[in-house]
Amino acid sequence: AALESSREGRVITRFGQHADIEDPQTGKIHRCNLRRSVGSLVTGDRVIWRPGKEALEGFAGVVEAVHDRMSVLTRPDYYDGVKPVAANIDQVVIVAAILPELSLNIIDRYLIACEVLNIAPLIVVNKVDLLDDDGREMVETLLDIYRDIGYPLVMVSADSGEGMSTLVEQLDQHVSVFVGQSGVGKSSLVNTLLPDVHAQTHQVSENSGLGQHTTTAARLYHFAQGGDLIDSPGVREFGLWHLEPEQIAHGFVEFREYLGGCKFRDCKHGDDPGCLLRQAVEDGHISVERFDSYHRIIESMKEAKDNRQFSR
Ligand code: GDP
Repeated sequence: AALESSREGRVITRFGQHADIEDPQTGKIHRCNLRRSVGSLVTGDRVIWRPGKEALEGFAGVVEAVHDRMSVLTRPDYYDGVKPVAANIDQVVIVAAILPELSLNIIDRYLIACEVLNIAPLIVVNKVDLLDDDGREMVETLLDIYRDIGYPLVMVSADSGEGMSTLVEQLDQHVSVFVGQSGVGKSSLVNTLLPDVHAQTHQVSENSGLGQHTTTAARLYHFAQGGDLIDSPGVREFGLWHLEPEQIAHGFVEFREYLGGCKFRDCKHGDDPGCLLRQAVEDGHISVERFDSYHRIIESMKEAKDNRQFSR
């Protein structure tokens, strides 16, 4: 038989020395071995794979090479410093909610992570069904902070369905991850957007005859109305770590034009005289909320660092 030629593919999920590769031509998923030279491979990676022949028994093909990544989501790792979790994501959906509390500070933390990773954020505020007219007006005004900076923002309710069609539109043509604190409604939103998610997870094990693998690895799903989702418990909780104060300031995009111009080179943007950032707040160019949020994040990072030193 002729040797089958190499094809493009996408990693749907990775476990141990194997990966489920989707053929973009057919939409079929093939469980493959990884050639040793392939190195690290994560969900969302674009690969070159070859069906049949070289594959070990029970596998449909071999992954031969990985394309360069457009972006990579990592998590801290005890041994390696950081470990990749998912690749080629181009949209981070930051989920916040009216209940248990609408925390702008948490939204800001995720926005910084997006800026550092250079991935576009989409802010989604869930549970708007809980708002009366006054509450809604208050929240809308508060969220104008983000609209004014230029961040896209959608108000939704997984319960009532409000705003969901707008969210669906924003997911089309993107590879997204959903992040946010526990309880904001990520599962509810994902379940609404992917009602056939169980079909998608079971498909593989039935086809391959290799049985269900239990894994917490990230997995790629297709939204019915366009766009992809990469999801796992770990992905949902990715956060802020190993950042320097300068990176934090840079993560507040509207601060950037004022950075580096303060009177003192190591200005902490607190009470220091000649601070351009503080001046911009006083002049109404930067919101008080974002400025306070910046200081809270710097403080919490200092505390975390002190705790680490203390525990050594
Ligand atoms: P996760 O931890 O972010 O995945 O949040 P869940 O999806 O588990 O939701 C947490 C709680 O919020 C559950 O009790 C949901 O029923 C509730 N919830 C989710 N979405 C909505 C919503 O749009 N409106 C209301 N009122 N409750 C919601």
